Amino acid sequence: MSKFTALRNSKKFALRNRVAVVAAGFGVTAALGAGIATAADAGLQNLTTGVGSTVSAQADAQVKSAADAKAAAAKAKKDAAKKADSWVKPVDKYTLGSTFGLAGSHWSHNHSGQDFVVPTGTPVKAVHKGTVVKAGPYGGGDGPAYGNAIVIRHDNGMYTQYAHLSQIGVNVGQQVGTGDKIGLSGSTGNSTGPHLHFEVRTGPDYGTGIEPTGFLRAHGDAV
Ligand SMILES: [Zn+2]
Repeated sequence: MSKFTALRNSKKFALRNRVAVVAAGFGVTAALGAGIATAADAGLQNLTTGVGSTVSAQADAQVKSAADAKAAAAKAKKDAAKKADSWVKPVDKYTLGSTFGLAGSHWSHNHSGQDFVVPTGTPVKAVHKGTVVKAGPYGGGDGPAYGNAIVIRHDNGMYTQYAHLSQIGVNVGQQVGTGDKIGLSGSTGNSTGPHLHFEVRTGPDYGTGIEPTGFLRAHGDAV
């Protein structure tokens, strides 16, 4: 027997086995289905004659539900891929606070991000998949005004920053997925009350910010 023939035969064998298993699986399910139908019909003597057709109807339903399950799995996979490539809001429920570019007495420069007013302890999510490049107190190196902060580099060369956190849940170098929880909101650093300060940056450091709400809207998730 050549190597190729052996391989082909083993594949055939595997396929045949799989078919047998599927068929056996069906038998079990159909039998079980009949049992359930019989039990359910026990009190209704007149209906027991319908068990045969119930079994066949259930077999049909099994085939259909198997196809449905396959379609649902394919859809779930597609949705997961779509979600990974999308951009989402950094928090679910919020009130918009100070906007980008606003001049304020408690900032040394114009406001460099968008504030999302949320209670302390609100889960903060990565708006898109990426790699954590900063995570820690003093803005992860950007300055004490930010408090505990995280910066993530994304696949399109953009960066997002999350500041005033009460808790940081990621480390520098860590890969995060779209919508992954990365920490909890708070009021650390130069903050007048609990909120998430969120920046979109063209580079990793302070001073490269662009307006976040327009950016998120352009990427499919309006805030
Ligand atoms: Zn802010």
